[in-house]
Amino acid sequence: MREIEVKTSKEFEIVDITHSIEEIVKESGVKEGIAVIFTKHTTTSLIINENEPRLLRDIERLFKGLVPKEERYAHNSIDRNAHSHLRAILMNPSLTVPIEDGKLFLGTWQSILFIELDGPRIRKVLVKICEC
Ligand code: ZN
Repeated sequence: MREIEVKTSKEFEIVDITHSIEEIVKESGVKEGIAVIFTKHTTTSLIINENEPRLLRDIERLFKGLVPKEERYAHNSIDRNAHSHLRAILMNPSLTVPIEDGKLFLGTWQSILFIELDGPRIRKVLVKICEC
């Protein structure tokens, strides 16, 4: 199991972690298998999509629209970040990506995107590479 650190600088931020994951795959020496990428937090998510700046703005707008920050959430009486948790449950805490020829088998426009929903913070993402 490997761990990568993601430092975020905004409340909502999308960070492309494809390169870090690709490095871990390369170091593992695994030629055929799967990479499991897992975020250990309740206010972060992982998605696979296109890293295009305007699309990233649209994704942010989507989640801010679906779960507005200014609502009367019960959890806010203890933590003030209910919107972050609720946005997180609409996505996933983990991804599975096939490995072929020692590389992530991603489509041309696919990137592995970490989504910070309650930053800025220092986050941990776990990566498990399995040969199969
Ligand atoms: Zn909370």
